[in-house]
Amino acid sequence: MTRLTDPDLAGLTSLAGDIVVVTGASSGIGQAAAEIYAAAGATVVVLGRSADRVSGVVGDIVSAGGTAHGYPVDVAVRGAIDAVLARVVAEVGRPTVVVANAGIAGGASYRGAGRLADYTDAEWDEVVATNLTGTFETVRAAARVLEPGGRILVTSSTAGMRTDPMVSYAYVSTKAAILNFVRQTALELAERGIRVNAIAPGPFKGTRIGDGRTEISAEDEAMWASTIPLGRMGTMAEIQGPMLFLVSPASAFVTGAILPVDGGALALSHTSF
Ligand code: NAD
Repeated sequence: MTRLTDPDLAGLTSLAGDIVVVTGASSGIGQAAAEIYAAAGATVVVLGRSADRVSGVVGDIVSAGGTAHGYPVDVAVRGAIDAVLARVVAEVGRPTVVVANAGIAGGASYRGAGRLADYTDAEWDEVVATNLTGTFETVRAAARVLEPGGRILVTSSTAGMRTDPMVSYAYVSTKAAILNFVRQTALELAERGIRVNAIAPGPFKGTRIGDGRTEISAEDEAMWASTIPLGRMGTMAEIQGPMLFLVSPASAFVTGAILPVDGGALALSHTSF
């Protein structure tokens, strides 16, 4: 068997020379991804709604020795992501990787205030605008700027791969819809040598998606942990490897795939619900 040399191993996860754009990078999974991409040698473009948080993440990456630029953008505003990518091309350079990660939860599940009969048009529309239309617009904008060899990564969820009574109707619906969008996009863009994949995280702590705070109560954490064979929620460090894998040379023959990162949650045949 041929043994890989150290430089070969390093090359598998190197993003040297890449310009990686990440939406929803001002906190949580997107921020963790932006940090590992910078550590892997990429120039990172941090996109998020809050200008303050975007510049905070850029500052942290630069302080750690990385290269990063930031732009505020709301992916739910039609045309906004195209406009910001045009600025990135002009001011930073042509992206080689685009990560469509921005997403919102859309209120409570039916076990709380989010029963179907009570679910409002406003909640539905907001989630569709961000999670579905925002992902469509981000991936379409990527298809317009990427060249052969480009990569697109979409953040879905295990909630898009099965029912999930812990989250809202709009969340499970949009997270499922973007998975088939990813597969279809992968078919078309394969003709241009561009890979398109999705990641499906299970419950991770350290993000703001629940109630805007990065802390989670011990009670909520125990509830989520009880749904996971590994017996705990994932950490931000544990999403970084899979986020890096799917845009790096290590996944050169992977496209149209969905990678669950869920501590075994999808392997359960029965849940405790
Ligand atoms: P988060 O709230 O910490 O991060 C979400 C990011 O998306 C933030 O930077 C926010 O500013 C941005 N965002 C939201 N709406 C936006 C909009 N309209 N325009 C631009 N940016 C917008 O939450 P997170 O948990 O890190 O979520 C990131 C992604 O991971 C989401 O798509 C989410 O659905 C997905 N996800 C999270 C978990 C989890 O357990 N945390 C599990 C599965 C999937």
